Amino acid sequence: MYIHVDVKERRRPIGWVADLCPICRDLRAFEVNELRRVARVYFVPLGRGSLEGCEITCVDCQSVMEAPEEGYEAVSNRRRDPAQLVSMTNPGLLDRAEDWFERQHKVAKGSLDKAERTREIVTVLRALDHMAWVRSRGGPEELLTALCIIVFFVVLIGTVMTWAGSPTWRIVFAVTAAGMLAISTTLVLTHRSMAAGRHLLPRLVRALEPLEPTQDEIDAALMLAQRQGLRIGRYVTGRRVLREMASERRRPVVLKAPGTA
Ligand SMILES: [Zn+2]
Repeated sequence: MYIHVDVKERRRPIGWVADLCPICRDLRAFEVNELRRVARVYFVPLGRGSLEGCEITCVDCQSVMEAPEEGYEAVSNRRRDPAQLVSMTNPGLLDRAEDWFERQHKVAKGSLDKAERTREIVTVLRALDHMAWVRSRGGPEELLTALCIIVFFVVLIGTVMTWAGSPTWRIVFAVTAAGMLAISTTLVLTHRSMAAGRHLLPRLVRALEPLEPTQDEIDAALMLAQRQGLRIGRYVTGRRVLREMASERRRPVVLKAPGTA
């Protein structure tokens, strides 16, 4: 007898903390979510599952990041101002972050040297690496890809069934099948980077705008990030980031909340 068993990743909000957001480049409040892997039988969860780690989401830019390994002193059960949260959940952060604020000052003034600029871009890429992975799955792009594959198979069956019949229908079905195969293949290869890019690009623009990087600088940082084991390079390129920067200058930045497509 076949028994359907699968494992589902679940997120549960557990409170708020204060931390430094590398995208907003300032102190921010973050929502903390627990990540659990829960085994299910016929979609019914078996218990609470195993704790995989924690995610933090900046309440301002909505960037989703992995919580730091050392964790936080406490988690507040209420959302408050970052200035109030920091003493409760992350005491000593502001004393430890002197260098961090000094660097933000240099970013704003444009006084970083070449090596510091590359390191700064890699820091932003590292902060968004988790989000690149999470947001590359699901979304309308995945649905569209599945739909195109289904349509391709339907048209393929139509081609086989009409092959012996009217030559006009044979050509119509065969050409449509070839077209659907081309569209499906393109979508299979690109839908993850399309989905991730939709979430990543506005945040990369916000974080990198003060640096005014060149395409070569972003590409060099992406390559360095890849050598350090980051996955974000699979989903964005320097050219894509610069193109988004140019179009963001013409329209206001709207950062969507997590969970939205
Ligand atoms: Zn932020």
